[in-house]
Amino acid sequence: MALEEYKRKRNFQKTPEPEGKVAPKREERFFCVQKHLASHLHYDFRLEHNGVLLSWAVPKGPSLDPKTKRLAMHVEDHPVAYGEFEGVIPEGYGAGIVMLWDRGTWTPEVDDVEAALKKGDLKFTLNGYKLKGSWVLVKTGGRYAGARGGGDRSWLLIKHRDDWAGDLDITEFAPRSVKSDGDFEDILAEDTPAVWQSHRPAKGGDAGAMLAQIIERAAALKAGKAAGAKGKRATEVKKKGATTATGGSRKSSNQPTASKRKTARRSP
Ligand code: MN
Repeated sequence: MALEEYKRKRNFQKTPEPEGKVAPKREERFFCVQKHLASHLHYDFRLEHNGVLLSWAVPKGPSLDPKTKRLAMHVEDHPVAYGEFEGVIPEGYGAGIVMLWDRGTWTPEVDDVEAALKKGDLKFTLNGYKLKGSWVLVKTGGRYAGARGGGDRSWLLIKHRDDWAGDLDITEFAPRSVKSDGDFEDILAEDTPAVWQSHRPAKGGDAGAMLAQIIERAAALKAGKAAGAKGKRATEVKKKGATTATGGSRKSSNQPTASKRKTARRSP
């Protein structure tokens, strides 16, 4: 784009000058991770590139431990605007609850992202709230073929060894939203948890059990809020106070702190 005038003024059949192309830049782009409770709990890892979000579904979520390679299934590109989405998908594809678990910028550690993707080896740096430092996405070459239908879609998400690596379980340590600071039940409580009693995207297994619990807690949160809003009786106010206290303690553990993050320290 930026070289249009340069090119318009020259006939490269007749000049020894280089035709040239805009150098791919190692510039910052948007990235996010959306924690998605659908038929299975997974983490959607998304990197902005060429006006879309390249997307991988990571069943166990990212690990800060370089020895722990996490399976990442390449899925369809998403619009950039999707990267801010948090909420409830009531039915259809991906039905469930989406939490914006991390967001920030990413910088390629290679000059040519397209070539790196084609090769199946993309190195990059993340600057999010929870995920930072150097990482790599490596195509497995079909090692997991058949595991989830389509070996050519399976990659591994791996943390490189640096100041941001460590044995802290980041998904356990910082489970909540970076957008609302809410957990799944808070996000659902903003919606209509009652509707979910009748149709649930995840009915069995771990996801089903988790969802059942979340629906229950969301309904309780919603009832608590309604009671608090009416401000009827002292007992109800007391109840609401207790709920807030619990929420407060959970809230405090959302973000990693310098003191708690042993090996993952912020560099100056
Ligand atoms: Mn998903």
